[in-house]
Amino acid sequence: MNDCLFCKIVAKEIPAEIVYETGRTLAFRDINPQAPTHVLVVPKQHHADAAALASADDGLADDVLKTAHAIAVQEGVAPAGYRVVFNTGPAAGQTVFHVHAHVLGGRDLNWPPG
Ligand code: C5P
Repeated sequence: MNDCLFCKIVAKEIPAEIVYETGRTLAFRDINPQAPTHVLVVPKQHHADAAALASADDGLADDVLKTAHAIAVQEGVAPAGYRVVFNTGPAAGQTVFHVHAHVLGGRDLNWPPG
């Protein structure tokens, strides 16, 4: 997608602090971190949101989740506890429409979320 911010990060046309990369996923630090660890995991292939990713039916959702858990281990927030969040749709606060998992940890996280 030509006008997609995260596609541009995947293509390395826009800088980001990349912390992990696989053949089909990329992980980079959120520019506005909400916890000591706040990393975004995206599939390199464009899908608008988690619903579209789930429909892809090619194992890509598994890859994103596995990368999220690898980040938690790499960042040292597992097994203490961390959160993986897909904001899906405007009412849930999604602002970038290239699906991304937020991996949050490094502090006590409240429930329910805001
Ligand atoms: O779930 P949502 O779509 O709101 O999350 C988008 C996230 O992308 C935000 O947490 C924002 O800080 C992050 N972001 C980023 N780098 C950019 C633009 C947005 O990390 N260049």
